[in-house]
Amino acid sequence: MPAPLRRGPSRWDNYHGTESCDVADLIELLNSGADSGRTVLQEVAGDVLALLQEARAAGRQVRPLGAGWSPSPITLVDGGWLVETRRINRCFRLAPADVAPGCDPSRLMLVQAGATVDEVNDSAEEMGLSLRTGGASNGQTWAGACATGTHGSVLDAGGIQDHIRALQVVTPSGVFWVEPHKPVMSGEFVTATGSTIFRDDDVFAACQVAVGAMGFITAMVIECVPIYMVRNIQKRGRITREHISRLAHGEFRAVSRALALDEEPHFVQVILNPFAPFSRDALLRFLYLRDHDPSIPPPPRPLVGAGYDALTLIGKAMAGLDLFRADVLQLAMRAGYATQRDINDPEAVATWGNTTEPHNPIANLFNGSVTMARADLDRAFEPLIEAFLSGGGGTVVTLRFMKRAAGLLAPARFDDNVVIDFDGPRSDVSHRSYRAVVTRLDAMGIRFTRHWGKTNDLDAARVASDYGDDYRRFRQAQRRLLPDPGDIAVFRCDSLIHLGLIN
Ligand SMILES: Cc1cc2nc3c(=O)[nH]c(=O)nc-3n(C[C@H](O)[C@H](O)[C@H](O)COP(=O)(O)OP(=O)(O)OC[C@H]3O[C@@H](n4cnc5c(N)ncnc54)[C@H](O)[C@@H]3O)c2cc1C
Repeated sequence: MPAPLRRGPSRWDNYHGTESCDVADLIELLNSGADSGRTVLQEVAGDVLALLQEARAAGRQVRPLGAGWSPSPITLVDGGWLVETRRINRCFRLAPADVAPGCDPSRLMLVQAGATVDEVNDSAEEMGLSLRTGGASNGQTWAGACATGTHGSVLDAGGIQDHIRALQVVTPSGVFWVEPHKPVMSGEFVTATGSTIFRDDDVFAACQVAVGAMGFITAMVIECVPIYMVRNIQKRGRITREHISRLAHGEFRAVSRALALDEEPHFVQVILNPFAPFSRDALLRFLYLRDHDPSIPPPPRPLVGAGYDALTLIGKAMAGLDLFRADVLQLAMRAGYATQRDINDPEAVATWGNTTEPHNPIANLFNGSVTMARADLDRAFEPLIEAFLSGGGGTVVTLRFMKRAAGLLAPARFDDNVVIDFDGPRSDVSHRSYRAVVTRLDAMGIRFTRHWGKTNDLDAARVASDYGDDYRRFRQAQRRLLPDPGDIAVFRCDSLIHLGLIN
C-alpha cells in the first residue's frame, strides 16, 4: 500500500479561512486498493501507529485532521504534524462472521474515518440503508463530524455520533478496537484488523465525541436504519410568539399544521430575522417521513438547506449599516431560499442523503451556537434576541431541535434540546453579539453548552462546570485508553489544553 505522503513544513488554513497554523509536517494518509475491509483497516492503522511512535520519539505533537471545516481552532497544531484523513474514505459491508453472536450485521457499515458524510450517505443507500440524522451539510469527514457532536434538526434523534457502535483507535502504544461492554464485533474480525479489543462503556462514550482528545480514530462501525425518503417543505412564512412557545413545549405537529402539513414532522428548522422575528418572514424547513420509493429519481439538485452562503455574504455588507437592517436581511433571506420548495412541489421527495448539501468555503465566516433544554426557549427567546442585537447582531438566528445525544461530551445533553445558531460575518460585531447572548443566559441562570467546532469562547473551567461528572468520566476514560503520559503528550495542543481536555 502507498506510504503516507509527507509534504514537510507548511502553512495550513482551515476550510473557511478562519484559523491557520505553521506545521512541521503536513502528512496525508493513503489507502490501498485491498478488497477486504479488515485488511484495509490493518494497513492504515499500521501507518498511523508508525507515525505516532515516530512523533513520540521525536517529541512532536500530532493532530488528526478531518475536512478542516471546524471554524474553531481545534484542528491546529503549531509546530506539530497535521495528518489529513480525507483519502482514507472507504465504506464496507459487514458479514455475519464479522459480528459478535446476537448482533445483526444488516444495518451495520464499516466506515473509514475520512469518508465524508456524503460518501457515507451514498454507500448507505447502495446497501438499502439511511442515516438517521446528520448536519445540514455533507462535506465533513465522519470522524471529524462525530468529534464535535455535529447535529441537525431531526426531532427524535441525537447527533451524528449516535450511529457509532465500535471504533478503531490508534495511540502510540497500539491499535485498539473500542466497544461498549456488550460485544459488537467478533474476536476474529478484531484480530484481523490488527487491533486489540478494548471494551469499556465510558471509553466508548468518550470516543463518540472525542474532540480529538482520545487518540487517532481510523475507522468506525456505524448503525443505520432501513432506507427512507423525506418530503421536504421549505418555505418563507411568518411565525408568531405562540409558535415559539409551542416549539419550546414540543408541539411540533401543531406548528406544522399551522405552517405546512397536518402531520407529525420528522425535522423542523426555523431561520429567523432577528431584527424583526415576527413581522418579517422566517425561512422554514419541515421534513416528513416517507417510505422509500425507488421509482422516484434523485432530485436534479440537493433539496438544499439553509442558504447560509447568501446570508453570510449579505451579513458582511450589513455590518456597516445602521438603518434598514431588517429589510436588507429579509432580501438576503429570500435569496437564501431561492429554491423554495412548497407544499405542491413535485420534486420535494428525496432520500435522506439528498437533503444534505455540499458547501463552498466562505472566507471569514462566524458560527456560534448554544444548546439548552428545549423548554427554556420559552423564557429565553426575547432576552436572547435582545442580547444578540445589543452587540450589533450578525445575520440570522436558527432554531434546531433534537434529543439527548450520545457521548460524554455531547453538547446536546438535555433530554430535549434546542440548538440556537448565531451566524454572521467574522467580525467584532458578530463575536460581541454572541458573547452578549452567552452572558445573558448566564445572568438568567439557564444552563447551556456550546459547539466544540464553532466559535465558543470556552475555557477549561467552563468545560468542567458545563459537563460536570461527565467531564470527570471523560478524563478518567482518557487515562484508561492512554495511560502512558508520553502517549497523551503526542496529542497535546494549545486548544485542547485551553479546553481542559488534555494536560
Ligand atoms: C458550512 C458548515 C456547515 C456546518 N453545519 C453544521 C451543522 O449543520 N450541524 C453541526 O452540528 N455542525 C455544523 N458545522 C460544524 C462542523 O460539522 C464541525 O465543525 C465538524 O467537526 C467538522 O468536521 P471535519 O471533518 O471538518 O472535522 P475537522 O474540523 O477537521 O476536525 C474536528 C475535530 O475532529 C478531530 N478529528 C478529525 N478527524 C479525526 C480522527 N480521524 N481521529 C481523531 N480526531 C479527529 C480534529 O482533530 C478536530 O479536533 C458546520 C460547519 C461548516 C463550516
